[in-house]
Amino acid sequence: MDLIDSLNEAQRNAVLATEGPLLILAGAGSGKTRVITHRIAYLIKEKGVSPYNILAITFTNKAAREMRERVEALLGGEARDIWIMTFHAACVRILRRDIEHIGYSRSFVIYDASDQLTLLKNCIKELDLNEKLYDPKAMLSAISKAKDKMIGPDEYAKAYGEDFRNKKIGDIYRLYQDKLKKNNALDFDDIILKTIELFKSNPEVLDYYQRRFKYIMVDEYQDTNAAQYQLIKLLSSYHQNLCVVGDDDQSIYGWRGADIRNILDFEKDFKNTKVIKLEQNYRSTKQILEAANEVVANNKGRKAKKLWTANDDGTPITVYTAADEHDEAEYAIMRILEGVAQGKSFGDYAILYRTNAQSRVFEDVLNREGIPYKMVGGLRFYDRKEIKDIIAYLRVLQNPLDDISLRRIVNVPRRGIGEGTLSKLDESAAKRGISLYDAMMECDDILPGRTARTIGKFVEMMSELMAVKEVATVTQLINEVLDRTGYIKELEKDDSEENQSRIQNLQEFLTVAQEFENKSEDKSLQAFLENISLVTDVDNLDENEDAVILMTLHGAKGLEFDNVFLVGMEEGVFPLSRAMLDEAQLEEERRLCYVGITRARKKLYITHALQRNIYGSVNYNPVSRFVEEIPEHLIEHEGYEAGGVSRSERKYIAATAEPRRTGTLFTQDQGDFGVPLTHRHKRDRSAVKFTEGQKVQHAKWGIGTVVEASDSEVVVVFDSVGSKRLAVDFAPLKVI
Ligand code: ATP
Ligand code: MG
Repeated sequence: MDLIDSLNEAQRNAVLATEGPLLILAGAGSGKTRVITHRIAYLIKEKGVSPYNILAITFTNKAAREMRERVEALLGGEARDIWIMTFHAACVRILRRDIEHIGYSRSFVIYDASDQLTLLKNCIKELDLNEKLYDPKAMLSAISKAKDKMIGPDEYAKAYGEDFRNKKIGDIYRLYQDKLKKNNALDFDDIILKTIELFKSNPEVLDYYQRRFKYIMVDEYQDTNAAQYQLIKLLSSYHQNLCVVGDDDQSIYGWRGADIRNILDFEKDFKNTKVIKLEQNYRSTKQILEAANEVVANNKGRKAKKLWTANDDGTPITVYTAADEHDEAEYAIMRILEGVAQGKSFGDYAILYRTNAQSRVFEDVLNREGIPYKMVGGLRFYDRKEIKDIIAYLRVLQNPLDDISLRRIVNVPRRGIGEGTLSKLDESAAKRGISLYDAMMECDDILPGRTARTIGKFVEMMSELMAVKEVATVTQLINEVLDRTGYIKELEKDDSEENQSRIQNLQEFLTVAQEFENKSEDKSLQAFLENISLVTDVDNLDENEDAVILMTLHGAKGLEFDNVFLVGMEEGVFPLSRAMLDEAQLEEERRLCYVGITRARKKLYITHALQRNIYGSVNYNPVSRFVEEIPEHLIEHEGYEAGGVSRSERKYIAATAEPRRTGTLFTQDQGDFGVPLTHRHKRDRSAVKFTEGQKVQHAKWGIGTVVEASDSEVVVVFDSVGSKRLAVDFAPLKVI
């Protein structure tokens, strides 16, 4: 039968073992995700299980989408009714049906980090505490950590030590939860916790889902936290057909409460567990896989396993020693351009770094060269001010109890509703135990006539929009909001570039809404807002787009690329300096390195810089210990510095370095002190000569005409972006 023919024996066993608890413990690239996909298809096609009875949990929405597509491809349709989704998406669905049992209304909204901060600041103020001593961000992370471990406000002090401070944090936590409830809002962690609360307090609801989900599968199980574990345990306890797949070597969310014991103790927790190991890696070359195995073998707290592959040997891992972070970026991009000139695509390349701050230098060079790239992380589209404003309007229309969103937009654009007025309204709301919006509807007694009229006008506008909401599509509603609130008009008043870009973003938001309406079965405003709340950066990554991918190592989990750059491989950068003193944290960094190495299919580049300007100071970091853990025979060195130099000598070398390999690709300018700081890497383009009037194609800007040309520079007028001056040696230009 073709469905399982494309699997190896261990994978096939995993697909066929449909009944009872099953733990698939396997290294990177061994086909864990593939097993889940085939298992779902097998259950439906061969065992006649209804799609309705299957729940598959993935780590990101993107992974869920991909899994659904693959299952569809195997089944030829019919994948629609399967719940393939993240923990959060599954829980939101469950809550949406039944949250009323635990005292929220079904129109609840989901708060993001910035809403949470606003709310926390209110709590700290209300408790008369000092924000400097009880930093809202620190409070947020303390509360979130507690929630990951399922510790409530009342148990907080008991769990973390009953000192004065912890008691106060417990108070903040309690008030924060009360306020969330009053606003009919959940934060991200609550989504899981409230589902558990719902199940525990309403056995009939739990019973319904327990019976429904006859087969449950969880991918990336090593990164589940205590709450997610509970949830899975509750859901699976009736049929007990639970299959989890994971890799203890890829557990990288310990800092976010993931508990590796969930995987290590699985056999204890679920009686009669069958364990299957997958040992063949299908993703990487032999050399890449060996490097990964060798690095992770240095961790003590792991189940021993060794991956092998039948793939080619491949080429050695290139370790490039850069003079500084600019040189590092130039090198990577030179290699990418070289590869593209040989027929590879930009999308075959990923640049992975430890922290988001490292992306800037790469972005600068990519922009300068006009190379298409896609960065995952950084400022999210939905975090932009104008988008958040419109979302806040929509949230209030959906859920008028949401004071936080209401406060955000009540005076945006400016309507003359000031802080003083709002505090009076807050006070009245608190006294009467009603929401801010309700207080606004009945404010004649507490506000002077003119102010009351201004508020009245605002309330009238909002209630008109609420009426629109009942009959209009989401797209229409957004258009009405933009128009009736005067939001767009305000932006149009001043024709600055910033405002233009805000208007463009709002147009993009309308596109998001349209796409949602085309795709989604449930087209309600509620569903739209949920969708937005649950997207993460990785979800927006479109692999078909031909662009270099920039992201953090955490973001790259589960993905694969032909060519990978692991950059910033220095002590203090990766591993992070704060992880270097703590054995457990260091092991987590090493697992992260293992994740990074195993993303590469064909070629791995590792770069480190002798000197790096990061977080505002210049550092001379030795190469990362993780690089030194890779056996020398797998490595090919490039760049500044001879191999085999001890760490203590490195700093000296940093000041006197000569490029070790100066092939035709490299040229070098000397910095002030003889330190090569700004040498640029060139492609050998001597064959290409540009002349005026020529039609050319640029990788990012498309077709253009050369209007000026010298040996080193060309000026091209592009149809897309107009005139650009480019360096002949570096620009991704070809004559057409
Ligand atoms: P990770 O640990 O990174 O999440 P994984 O164990 O989930 O990896 P997959 O992503 O499922 O591994 O598989 C890695 C690659 O190997 C994919 O491209 C997949 O299609 C391929 N692959 C897995 N099993 C087989 C097989 N039996 N035959 C051919 N290709 C396979
Ligand atoms: Mg996987």
